[in-house]
Amino acid sequence: MNFEKLYIGGQWASSSSGDWIQVENPATREKFARVPAGNSQDIDAAVQAARSAFPGWASTPLKERVEMMKQMLHHLKAMRSDIISLEVRELGSPVSFAETAHCDYQYTRIQSYIDLAPHVDLITKLPASTVYREPVGVIGCITPWNYPLGQVVQKVIPAILMGNTVVLKPSQHTPLTCYLLVQAFAQAGLPSGVLNLVTGRGAEVGNALSSHPLVDMISFTGSTSGGITVAQKALASVKKISLELGGKSPCILLKSQDYSQGIHLCLDSIFLNAGQTCTALSRLLIPREDKEKIEKMIQQMTQEYPVGDPCDPKTKIGPLASLQQFKKVTGYLHTGLEEGAVLLSGQIPSTVDNGYYILPSVFTNVTNDMKIAREEIFGPVLCVITYNTIEEAINIANDTPYGLNAAVCGPDKEESVRVARRIQAGNIYINNGPRDTSAPFGGYKKSGIGREGGIAGMIEFTQQKALFDAGL
Ligand code: NAD
Repeated sequence: MNFEKLYIGGQWASSSSGDWIQVENPATREKFARVPAGNSQDIDAAVQAARSAFPGWASTPLKERVEMMKQMLHHLKAMRSDIISLEVRELGSPVSFAETAHCDYQYTRIQSYIDLAPHVDLITKLPASTVYREPVGVIGCITPWNYPLGQVVQKVIPAILMGNTVVLKPSQHTPLTCYLLVQAFAQAGLPSGVLNLVTGRGAEVGNALSSHPLVDMISFTGSTSGGITVAQKALASVKKISLELGGKSPCILLKSQDYSQGIHLCLDSIFLNAGQTCTALSRLLIPREDKEKIEKMIQQMTQEYPVGDPCDPKTKIGPLASLQQFKKVTGYLHTGLEEGAVLLSGQIPSTVDNGYYILPSVFTNVTNDMKIAREEIFGPVLCVITYNTIEEAINIANDTPYGLNAAVCGPDKEESVRVARRIQAGNIYINNGPRDTSAPFGGYKKSGIGREGGIAGMIEFTQQKALFDAGL
């Protein structure tokens, strides 16, 4: 696959910038590919193409859009080994996690949108009116680096199914996998201009997209600070905005005889993808009276997460995605020790010679006012916090600017549900509750505005029109 082009108006085209962004393998530090560093001219060309394609695509029957998406998925499935190998190389994802989370789960998500699209209520009859859900128009999609294909899927698939046209700006750190998605759309015969790809940096391409007057909606996933900047730019021309932002998610272990299931849930969440997951359960809240017992279990279970070469099928934790991430996470490890927390496992790495590796790290004796408990570290770093009463646990869980994800694990399911209902977060797992692609995903508080996934995720890319037709 040639990554040195942009995709505009159905053509692979050169950027007018002549400038490049190098893509690095974080396990070896080898720069193995480059993509265009697009600019505002490229964005303008892509937006114009999306604008021209909009009327035709918006009026294409949903049934035909769904058929096209099925074809696209068929072609994307044929690219499975390429997707996996790119996620290993551009992100440093362990190959086993690349297979399940970065590739196969994305197929499941796409299939879920295909299955649910015909069930979106596009026409609602009211006593004296009819309400139509129509596409919003040209959507600017801006995505982060941590799930390079997954974050793109969550926007591009529902937006296109609902009749919108798209200009996609993936993260400059992991831009490669989405080329395969674009290729699969091209093979499926998506009309020219419905999907456009402009790679580049946030400050230039992201800014140009969020402030372009012909863009109707910005769908952004990334940091809370990045989301605020983008939203401010988009609001200047009154665009619709959806934001999927950061998190500092709590996992509450309710008093129990056996904590192993809850600890496993939490460690999987904070260690897999090297902790670079927006929903990572990064604060583990435990009953004070069982502190020693639970700490011992954590220390033992942390051994189940071998760190190493992402190409090795036994590896569970690969390198962090970039030098920038490595410095940030290492900085927080220093901060934790300075704040008086104690490292139960892990250590501060001294070198990055062989990639950006950090051991799975668990801080104990953490209090919720510490920086490491309040800020999103975005690495394999867990904070263990004790509580005396359930009331106190709920207060600690909610004492955060974020509200993306949470978990409550306990022997009495009804009690766990009661606790979960009092936590301010968009998604909450009870014990080993499975994931559900048809459920809405998104955040309370500073974790975002709007929802992705399922029917809610498709409705996000529509706007309502009421026709007062009583006399017709
Ligand atoms: P980021 O905010 O640095 O960048 C996200 C995207 O926005 C990138 O494409 C970037 O180029 C662009 N961008 C950044 N600043 C911009 C600006 N001022 N104007 C326009 N575009 C700009 O985030 P990141 O480091 O790529 O990703 C990590 C963050 O994403 C974490 O905070 C994580 O929690 C969050 N995230 C949230 C979700 C979710 O669904 N809620 C999912 C994944 C990641």
